[in-house]
Amino acid sequence: MNELVIDLEAEKKEILKRYRALLRACKPAMQKGDKRMIRQAFDMALESHKDMRRKSGEPYIYHPIAVAQIAAEEIGLGTTSIVCALLHDVVEDTDITLEDIEREFGKKVAKIIDGLTKISGVFDYNSSLQAENFRKMLLTLADDVRVILIKLADRLHNMRTMDFMPRDKQLKISSETVYLYAPLAHRLGLYAMKSELEDLAMKYMESETYKFIAKKLNEKKAERELYIKEFIEPFKNILIEQGLKAEVYGRPKSIHSIWNKMRKKGIPFEEVYDLFAIRIILDSSLENEKADCWKAYSIVTDLYRPNPDRLRDWISSPKANGYESLHTTVMGSKGQWVEVQIRTKRMNEIAEKGFAAHWKYKESAADTALDQWIHKVRELLSNPESNALDFLDEFKMNLFSDEIFIFTPKGALIQLPVHATALDFAFEIHSDLGAKCIGAKVNHKLVPLSYKLQNGDQVEILASNKQTPKEDWLSFVVTAKAKARIKSALKEEKRRAAEEGKEILERKLKSLKITYNTDNINKLTLYFKYPAPIDLFYNIAKGNIDLGSLKEFQSAEKTVETRTPERIEAAQIEGIINKVKAGKENNTLLIGEDMQKLDYKLSNCCNPIPGDDVFGFITVSDGIKIHRTTCPNAAKLMSNFGYRVVKAKWTSQKELAFLTGLRIRGIDDVGLINQLTTVISHDFKVNIRSITIDSNEGIFEGAIMVYVNDTQHLENLIKKLKQVKGVTSVTRYDSESKNLEIAS
Ligand code: MN
Repeated sequence: MNELVIDLEAEKKEILKRYRALLRACKPAMQKGDKRMIRQAFDMALESHKDMRRKSGEPYIYHPIAVAQIAAEEIGLGTTSIVCALLHDVVEDTDITLEDIEREFGKKVAKIIDGLTKISGVFDYNSSLQAENFRKMLLTLADDVRVILIKLADRLHNMRTMDFMPRDKQLKISSETVYLYAPLAHRLGLYAMKSELEDLAMKYMESETYKFIAKKLNEKKAERELYIKEFIEPFKNILIEQGLKAEVYGRPKSIHSIWNKMRKKGIPFEEVYDLFAIRIILDSSLENEKADCWKAYSIVTDLYRPNPDRLRDWISSPKANGYESLHTTVMGSKGQWVEVQIRTKRMNEIAEKGFAAHWKYKESAADTALDQWIHKVRELLSNPESNALDFLDEFKMNLFSDEIFIFTPKGALIQLPVHATALDFAFEIHSDLGAKCIGAKVNHKLVPLSYKLQNGDQVEILASNKQTPKEDWLSFVVTAKAKARIKSALKEEKRRAAEEGKEILERKLKSLKITYNTDNINKLTLYFKYPAPIDLFYNIAKGNIDLGSLKEFQSAEKTVETRTPERIEAAQIEGIINKVKAGKENNTLLIGEDMQKLDYKLSNCCNPIPGDDVFGFITVSDGIKIHRTTCPNAAKLMSNFGYRVVKAKWTSQKELAFLTGLRIRGIDDVGLINQLTTVISHDFKVNIRSITIDSNEGIFEGAIMVYVNDTQHLENLIKKLKQVKGVTSVTRYDSESKNLEIAS
């Protein structure tokens, strides 16, 4: 007992210590009366959370204090936000009501807390609920961006302290983080936060690779630091001589971004050359900013030869999230490309802290770009037609992409995501113009709708009143706005046609003396194998159904089972979940052992093999599918359908073989293929399912699908193949099927 009392005393001290550290972080932005407000919020949070503890056993109040500290220090938010951050969990988790908050802290604070409470994760047996939650969160952008920023701080602290969570929660929260929060941080210009969120998520979702890269980075640290020092030394002095006040340092790239590069290019760690970037931060007055940056650029490129293809000028045209910087890649002394980022202190603060930093520099032109973006978000959200999941998919795509700048015939500047087409541009100008678009003139030359625009193009849209949106447009437009508008136009068209089809069917049924009622329509829908009556009507109108076959239906009708089309049934899913959990330790599905009792399959989008980190996903009509946690679909499945995810584990089963893919690169040589297949089928006794080989100017690239027992088996095989003369790399790959298996 005595010990507990001492603990509580120590905790009390620690809480106060943390609170004082928070106050120090808030100081730069504090005005008269602010300190009292923050104290009041702290007292309320402390009192209302007093009996609560985090999973780690720590007092709960550590969490809101930490969230407030992140909001102040890492996002640069002011007193109102600090107060909200301290109180962000009280309405949801304690007896305090929104009215209490409003009485003590006013309307503004109450409104932000309300937003924060509304978007807190609630999981339900409803597939689109999570997506709907995200949508709500984005909607709050329209009210007050601070809600999103505090939510991000909350998420960052939760990610930093997730070690005590159960494994499935870690996976779910991590995937939600990469799926939505990291892209949001990116879009709001919070680069440091985005990188940390991605790294933390990777630590849980892909822990082996994470540790591997971290270790490799650490091993080469001294060598890298020496290289950076020698690289910087020569021009640092010149900068000073030329009268520029500059801070120059090397900055390591995040583990996640290194991993991304390895995956994208299919290269091992050793071949990633840009493990760091050099940053030059200039102390310039506002009017000299641009000139100073180019002066620094000129000094650096006098010493090191720049790669002309890799110059990025985001000072003249800042990114939509406000990012301003000058990037160049130069050839270092040891024949290595080095990225150099040049910016001023002001630009750096915006790059690190993002949105909030904008308020401090109101005169910055970047403000308008961000305002435009928020305006666009609002516009998108106001489209009631789009289904929450579709919307999220498209919105997310737009979060991550970089933008290009396009001019109207009159010279106005329009920002579009990379790969945007002439049609996207038309929809961007006006949705009616997009719907009637028949072509465009790009730089005075006639081009088709699907023409991919380049930075700096000048575009004139050609329209016709006879034009209507077409299904195939969806295959090339990239902006969320264009997609949403085309889809709703097509839906409208389908509805109209279905009306017609319905009337045709009614007449036909009458002549056959079949009653027109819901029951019969459902039977017909099932008979012609359509997902819903509207599809049946539509296809009748389009002449895709031979109405003569209705007679056959009539005679077959007696044998047709009366059954409503399969739908996602909460109860059904719950049934499977309970079955998995029944009498199991940790509710984990054991792959190999449960085969007889439960219907599960290995998904073919990521081809898991024993030894991989995996999870089970409950599908409606196809039992449980096993995916790798690194599957391109995993993040989406876990974050949107968390309740359908079950933990899964391999049991040893050497006798079974699993399909996996190997990508082999090398120098083409006579007999190389023969040697590879010998190693695979003779030395390793592994079955090959397929081989495709591409040989181009002496470079060989092969994709081989083989059956292996587990990851260890696969590793040994890879090691052996690497020893074949002429082979330069062997990597595992997944078939890159983009087809999501959500409702199936
Ligand atoms: Mn929280």
